[in-house]
Amino acid sequence: MTSEGHKGKQLRPATQLVHGGTTRSPFGETSEALYLTQGFVYDSAEAAESRFNGENPGYVYSRYANPTVTMFEDRIKALEGAEAARGMASGMAAVNTAVMASVKAGDHVVAAKALFGSCRYIVETLLPRYGVESTLIDGTDIEQWKAAVRPNTKALFLESPTNPTLEVIDIAAVAEISKSIGARLIVDNVFATPLFQSPLALGADVVVYSATKHIDGQGRCLGGVILSDQEWIDEEVMPFIKHTGPHMSPFSAWVLLKGLETLPLRVKQQTASATKIADFLAEHSKVSRLIYPGRDDHPQADVAKRQMRAGSTMLAFEIDGGKEAAFRFANALEVIKLSNNLGDAKSLITHPATTTHQSIGEEAQAELGISSGLLRFSVGLEDELDLIEDLDQALSAI
Ligand SMILES: *Cc1c(COP(=O)(O)O)cnc(C)c1O
Repeated sequence: MTSEGHKGKQLRPATQLVHGGTTRSPFGETSEALYLTQGFVYDSAEAAESRFNGENPGYVYSRYANPTVTMFEDRIKALEGAEAARGMASGMAAVNTAVMASVKAGDHVVAAKALFGSCRYIVETLLPRYGVESTLIDGTDIEQWKAAVRPNTKALFLESPTNPTLEVIDIAAVAEISKSIGARLIVDNVFATPLFQSPLALGADVVVYSATKHIDGQGRCLGGVILSDQEWIDEEVMPFIKHTGPHMSPFSAWVLLKGLETLPLRVKQQTASATKIADFLAEHSKVSRLIYPGRDDHPQADVAKRQMRAGSTMLAFEIDGGKEAAFRFANALEVIKLSNNLGDAKSLITHPATTTHQSIGEEAQAELGISSGLLRFSVGLEDELDLIEDLDQALSAI
């Protein structure tokens, strides 16, 4: 087994995403090998003993670690600038593990209330069942973070930009509050992507991704990743993974490794299209509100400029006429597909009030700015002119 050597040179992100983490079998394969195996065999009883007592760092069981998953972890860790990474079965496995590995009964968690639905369920419903109190706040208001933290607050959790209204939260300011009380700041960086936002450099302690989104980017498999410092990953995250089983499958790791190779190309192209589509929608007479973190009219444009390198691939917009108009528009689309997924090569549109955010109820929807005319749009890899023409013809159908 040989690892790719770079003579200590710090390679640029696009290069790391093609070569980072590669280990080759004696066959010298070009593409990463798929080690589709549950376990490993040992040359001797002594060798087995030394694997189990940690003297020999080799593989033991794929619930703990697997060579294909290790390649995925090493590749994304190089991009993120993290000491350690663990590949997970899904984005939710990553979020759940990161939160659970940070708390015990009697602790307290503060989170921004504009969260992906299942993240909100973990913080609001699951944690209290196990004796961990949680407080949900408006994450864009830094005073609310200050007021919510307590001496027993062990974790702060946020997404930025948020789903689906693309609010931008000041990560450096929240990190400062978190550090002052010795808590761990966990940032779900799915919407910004690792290309355009680096939460660890802004002071966060943990970054989580749903690799299902841009990292795969081609609608094939679920995955997630937790990135943080080596000590916490080894001492808290690894035992949790070993004994509860949310690790990434080797097959998913192999697919996602190939996804990482093309991530910058895809995300940059999708972002370039999103920028033009945002400008088109902002000017359209049927669109009452356009939200895109890359535009100067975004409510937190200053923060976005400070912490994001681009507006990324997601936009949201509101049309007059509520659910009826939104449905008529969505049903008239021809190129753009209706789906709750995002970050895909295919452009996908969703009506959050009746799909992803249906279960939170009207009151919470109103609080989060999810009106009945709001649509969330994940810009894909199609020609931007086809996308603009499709939006235009569907808007005129309202
Ligand atoms: C999709 C998503 C998740 C959950 O990821 P899965 O891979 O579907 O489990 C978590 N957070 C955000 C922001 C997401 O978009």
